[in-house]
Amino acid sequence: MDSCDVLIVGGGPAGSSCAWKLTRGGLDTIVLDKSHFPRHKVCGGWITPAVLSELDIDIAQYAPGRTLQPIVGFRTGVMDAREVEITYGKPISYGIRRCEFDDYLLKRSGARLYCGANLTSIERSGEEWTVNGQIRARIIVGAGGHFCPVARLLGADARKETAVVAQETEFEMNLSERAACSIRGEVPELYFCPDMRGYGWCFRKGNFINIGLGRLDAHGLPSHVAEFLRFLKKRRKFDFDVPSPMSGHAYLLLRDMRHKIVDEGMLLTGDAAGLAYSQSGEGIRPAIESGLMAADAILAANGKYSAANLESYRARLKLRFGKSQSGLAVTLGRRLPAKLLGAISRQILANRWFSRHVVLDDWFLHLDEPALKTFIPLATQP
Ligand SMILES: Cc1cc2nc3c(=O)[nH]c(=O)nc-3n(C[C@H](O)[C@H](O)[C@H](O)COP(=O)(O)OP(=O)(O)OC[C@H]3O[C@@H](n4cnc5c(N)ncnc54)[C@H](O)[C@@H]3O)c2cc1C
Repeated sequence: MDSCDVLIVGGGPAGSSCAWKLTRGGLDTIVLDKSHFPRHKVCGGWITPAVLSELDIDIAQYAPGRTLQPIVGFRTGVMDAREVEITYGKPISYGIRRCEFDDYLLKRSGARLYCGANLTSIERSGEEWTVNGQIRARIIVGAGGHFCPVARLLGADARKETAVVAQETEFEMNLSERAACSIRGEVPELYFCPDMRGYGWCFRKGNFINIGLGRLDAHGLPSHVAEFLRFLKKRRKFDFDVPSPMSGHAYLLLRDMRHKIVDEGMLLTGDAAGLAYSQSGEGIRPAIESGLMAADAILAANGKYSAANLESYRARLKLRFGKSQSGLAVTLGRRLPAKLLGAISRQILANRWFSRHVVLDDWFLHLDEPALKTFIPLATQP
């Protein structure tokens, strides 16, 4: 039998960020993950700069031997309509490969790692948990993604929830594929479905390319993906076949934030809590921020992990992300008939001002949301 102060289930960005802060705060932390790292994660691999500063990631130290593609702008539009290119003259995002990024964060966290270890049982005795009959801990952090078993224990049922469904493929292009690809690493491309219920992306990161599409409804996803690939070829974005089948995954958006994310000796972070931004589907930053905020709450609770003592975490999440829950695209998508919405979205997404200030600055880059370090914590709110 092993024991620790905090047991984190899941070593993705949420779990490793939480672990990183906890170990720096002096707590003995174990991360348990069913995969061996480095592991593949279905993802576009686009991150905003806040992620790097929140985790004190030194680019000069991270980049050697890994993919870190600076992004200075985006091409956007509605499929089959006019495209707009917006550039900012400086890096406003980065492209990473999740197999490298997640491995780096997890190893850097300073936690003790149980990798290749699926969570099979959680038992409560007094104020202590026993996991897999093997590890004892006073508090468990659920960071196991959309199908997190700890979230299930708090009542989540992933089969009944309306999630974003997405498919992607990431591969290294050979010389002739690189020559036949007009997408530039520093300017990725994003194209919305005419019904605004999803979008497709092309991220070129060094020699790698990541192509995918996510939608708010699971219905007909493969045909939307096929349509997107046809569109890209027609626009001569590339002239080769992408490997199929693509990998698929689902996750919850903020507007569907799970109600119970805190309980006695237990809390949820990242996709397990359903925190991805509603408009862009960006989930890495909310995963990291929630991991850091969960660590703050655990450190502040000082060994007394009642639900009441952990409640500040839920309140802080709400304060941080509450504003992002409603979105124009989501609202319009619900209210307007499909034909009208298609006509409107073709028009407004072809407009440079709208593309820059609404689509990019607000929906994708969250320029009005500073990195967590400069975020005012709950205790100091007026
Ligand atoms: C196709 C697609 C593209 C995306 N693109 C982007 C993007 O470009 N940028 C962005 O910001 N977000 C993107 N996202 C969202 C992003 O991938 C997630 O929001 C993010 O990974 C959430 O991090 P997490 O740590 O909460 O969970 P995860 O990254 O899912 O990590 C969960 C970990 O828990 C482990 N685990 C699960 N079950 C168990 C178990 N029973 N026992 C032990 N361990 C377990 C898993 O092995 C995994 O390592 C995309 C998502 C999809 C599906």
